[in-house]
Amino acid sequence: MNKAVRKAIIAGNWKMNKTPNEAKELLTQITPLVKDADCDVIACVPYVDLQTALDATQGTNVKIGAENCHWEKSGAFTGEISAEMLKAMGIEYVIIGHSERRQYFGETDVTVNKRVRAALDAGLTVILCVGELLSEREQGITAETVSLQTKVALQGVSAEELSKIVIAYEPVWAIGTGLTATADQAEEVCAIIRNVLADLYCEKCAQAVTIQYGGSMNDANAAELLSKENVDGGLIGGASLVAEKFAAIVKAASV
Ligand code: PEP
Repeated sequence: MNKAVRKAIIAGNWKMNKTPNEAKELLTQITPLVKDADCDVIACVPYVDLQTALDATQGTNVKIGAENCHWEKSGAFTGEISAEMLKAMGIEYVIIGHSERRQYFGETDVTVNKRVRAALDAGLTVILCVGELLSEREQGITAETVSLQTKVALQGVSAEELSKIVIAYEPVWAIGTGLTATADQAEEVCAIIRNVLADLYCEKCAQAVTIQYGGSMNDANAAELLSKENVDGGLIGGASLVAEKFAAIVKAASV
């Protein structure tokens, strides 16, 4: 099995951008531009935009995801949203472990694992983010960092459940900075992640998992990054907020 048979996925991460009206407008621009995509197309949007996004993409090939979820099903967790709530409203995907959650909201590998487990139990597909800090890359511990993040996040996840896991390799130094990993750097770390999956599960299981690159991917650099054997798609921040740029990345993944 190789890249040719893995599902390419281009997912937008809108972060804390777009009101419901703005979300409707952006998705109305995006949907016709990506209708012939030969890859999966997802928009992960703020909680308050989810229903609008579902309505705006109904009958199209654009799927909707959330940007986080809590690990408990319900209870006294003011301000939180559960995986069950997302599933109940028709959401299919959820980003978990984004570096901004880790950096600003106290997310750890252990809480990432709890959220992954909850999302799988609710029937969601997880876009699991891993990636090293610049200081970790400079210390030469990128492989260890990313391997550990992947292993802890997937604790208690079975081989069968891997079909509901997408991994996004996102070097933290490349997110929102305009600094992109070179295609070779992205390939090297995505291959390391795939080897971790092979060790944890089996070679065939690892070959079937979609591994995205994320970090300042845009319409100009997407084709080169996506040409690499182990880079199966992209998680796109800034460029996902501009319909033409996002559509160009989808096109690059569709060849
Ligand atoms: C992201 O938010 O996951 C991301 C990759 O952002 P950007 O594309 O803006 O670097």
